[in-house]
Amino acid sequence: ATGLMKGKRGIILGVANNRSIAWGIAKACHDAGAEIALTWQGDNLKKRVEPLANELNALMAGHCDVTDPASIEDVFARLEQEWGKIDFVVHAIAFSDKEELTGRYIDTSRENFAKSMDISVYSFTAIARRAEKMMNDGGSMLTLTYYGAEKVMPHYNVMGVAKAALEASVRYMAVDVGGRGIRVNAISAGPIKTLAGSAIGDFRYILKWNEYNSPLKRNCTIDEVGNTALFLLSDLSTSVTGEVLHADSGYHVVGMKAVDAPDI
Ligand code: NAD
Repeated sequence: ATGLMKGKRGIILGVANNRSIAWGIAKACHDAGAEIALTWQGDNLKKRVEPLANELNALMAGHCDVTDPASIEDVFARLEQEWGKIDFVVHAIAFSDKEELTGRYIDTSRENFAKSMDISVYSFTAIARRAEKMMNDGGSMLTLTYYGAEKVMPHYNVMGVAKAALEASVRYMAVDVGGRGIRVNAISAGPIKTLAGSAIGDFRYILKWNEYNSPLKRNCTIDEVGNTALFLLSDLSTSVTGEVLHADSGYHVVGMKAVDAPDI
């Protein structure tokens, strides 16, 4: 992919550490020649993100907590100053109270429902609206989703409802900004052991289940999601928009447990 992203600049939100999906995407973009800006959420994560940003010569664009609109504005104002325009934006952010990522969806609280939707869905809309202003020659916007949006997955609960809304918002925004040559897509990634992933109840069981039952008989990696992102962020996909592309070892096509799958 050397040179595929040469001359392109973009911002990636959602790196927490070197296991983050956003980090897999950042590495792939950098290796393909893109210039990257990263954000962090709070001082604790800044310490983690700073050395990673240095590895990629990435711009440390600022603290961004999506529940605080001023922090989104500050980051984009900084980018405007440094770069003037951008070519892509990656949103790899989600949150739900851990207590509600186990048990029954029906028991979700009003507070956590609203918070999960705000951080995991609305934030992509807010970020896309701000990013659009800086995409003068078209662009590509990308978010991360999960199969729990389409089918009921154990413990995914309110996050599944949020991801369904996120996928719908990808389609609506694709129409809103398509006339300006801006594309909006999502990657539906298979389960990966990250900070956010580990908050889901019985996550190890889910990982094993996917490994044994996906067509490729293994789990996917952040580097593979990074390469899939490269396709959607680059000019290889200029007619692809409003799409949810699965990077999940093919798990989403499977109808039942594999006959030869071992017991977990
Ligand atoms: P991660 O914990 O590495 O990343 C989640 C990020 O969200 C963190 O960087 C965190 O700082 C950020 N975040 C949370 N609340 C925020 C807020 N209020 N403001 C700003 N940032 C905030 O985990 P990850 O698995 O890499 O998650 C990235 C995305 O991928 C999420 O949307 C997640 O739902 C999605 N995803 C993950 C998996 C998986 O199995 N890990 C599978 C499919 C989709």
